[in-house]
Amino acid sequence: MVRLRNCFVIFSFFSFAIFLIPNLNAQVSQKSALPGLPQTASLVGNTSALAQEAQGWLVDLVKINTTNPPGNEQAAAKYVAGVLAKEGINAELIDLAPGRSAVVARLRSTAVADPSKALLLVAHMDVVGVERTRWSVDPFAGVIKDGYLWGRGSIDDKSMVAANLAAFIALKRGAVHLNRDVIFLGTADEEQFGDASLRMIIAKYWDKIAAGYALNEGGQVMVRNGKVEYVGVQASEKVSVNVNLSATGKGGHSSTPTKDNPVVHLAAAVEKIGNYTASVHLTSIVRRYFEALAPLEDEETSKWMRVIDTPDRGEHALRVLSDQNPMWNSMMRDTVAPTVFQAGFRANVIPTDAHAVINVRLVPGDTIDLLVNDLKKLVNDPMIKFDIQPEGGFAAPNSSLETDFYALITKVTAQEFGGVPVIPFMSTGATDSAQLRLHNVQAYGLRPMPLNEADLMRVHGDDERLPLAAFAKGVDCMTRIVAEFSSNH
Ligand SMILES: [Zn+2]
Repeated sequence: MVRLRNCFVIFSFFSFAIFLIPNLNAQVSQKSALPGLPQTASLVGNTSALAQEAQGWLVDLVKINTTNPPGNEQAAAKYVAGVLAKEGINAELIDLAPGRSAVVARLRSTAVADPSKALLLVAHMDVVGVERTRWSVDPFAGVIKDGYLWGRGSIDDKSMVAANLAAFIALKRGAVHLNRDVIFLGTADEEQFGDASLRMIIAKYWDKIAAGYALNEGGQVMVRNGKVEYVGVQASEKVSVNVNLSATGKGGHSSTPTKDNPVVHLAAAVEKIGNYTASVHLTSIVRRYFEALAPLEDEETSKWMRVIDTPDRGEHALRVLSDQNPMWNSMMRDTVAPTVFQAGFRANVIPTDAHAVINVRLVPGDTIDLLVNDLKKLVNDPMIKFDIQPEGGFAAPNSSLETDFYALITKVTAQEFGGVPVIPFMSTGATDSAQLRLHNVQAYGLRPMPLNEADLMRVHGDDERLPLAAFAKGVDCMTRIVAEFSSNH
């Protein structure tokens, strides 16, 4: 996942509610999935039975241990293909490595596909590992208690796999007359970004997933004090690059130290780099983010957010905001974080070398070479060598906030969550969307399950759990967005 909020337009959907999912309209009365949220008129009718089914798929997926490494996503891919087969949808497994497969399926609008119009629903099937002893439940048992599904991947990202499946299957069941192809894709190896990841599918099998639009993880429906506060749609992301630092000296006996101890040189360099603050670079998305977030914040914070672009108070405002919130700080500028420091092997020996790793997160558009030049000047020590690691992230353009799809996401999520603001943002963490954006896909990050900060903190941590009411709400939201964007009406 990694990891990291318009106007309210009322449309009449009654004519579609009838044909789209006729077998769901007669289901039990829908209760509001999150207290206090009104249900809105829907293109797809009542989705509560569908959400119940999707919950079953999600539980099954959590039980399939896809801890990466090794991944073993093929088992999950086969399960997904089985669910689709029951609906009469042919899914294809894309084998990427032994035991590691992605799964792709397509609902066609026309005999000849128009990739520029197609909608790609993408979610990853692998999960990060667990520290089993720190969990209060078996992380791979699909335990349901206290209104939550507990388990690794229950949020990241199997909730999206199951919600995407639900939205995709709803189109098929409703025999929806599609205006574009809709592609379902379950990926492998997202968490390690390795040779079985989306990168490989793009390189080798692009025609199977080519699309003009995509929905992926990366967004959030933020709950504060029990209420949905805003919907964040990820339209951009920072770029991760590692820089290795090394220092080399003569080494020797620690009883007769000299000035060229690499531990001392490297420690001094890391200390300077750790305190480095890059200059502010506000992208258009980040400007939109602060502008839209300002009305939701307390008076003081809101005041500073409104003046970030003014010549007299902007600089001070940015300083206040970056001091207040590490994520805001990271959205404004390149960041550098020393993450690894290795030196020495014996207490009485000065080693000949010492190594450190600096993880850099660039604002898209900034270059690593310029940043490293700045760091070299700052360190000002010829003993320190900087080595930029090649397998960095992808610097991609923003997804546009002017597309029909973005407008639709905004409209539907605002309706779904009681008219809250929908705010575009740049995530500080990386997702697969950057690679899609580099292939001209308007990719948006949206996880439509309302979650609070405490829920989100469990992602990649202990006792990850998904509120089941939030999942039902997410299935409803996802199904509406997909149905409305891809149906002729
Ligand atoms: Zn994820």
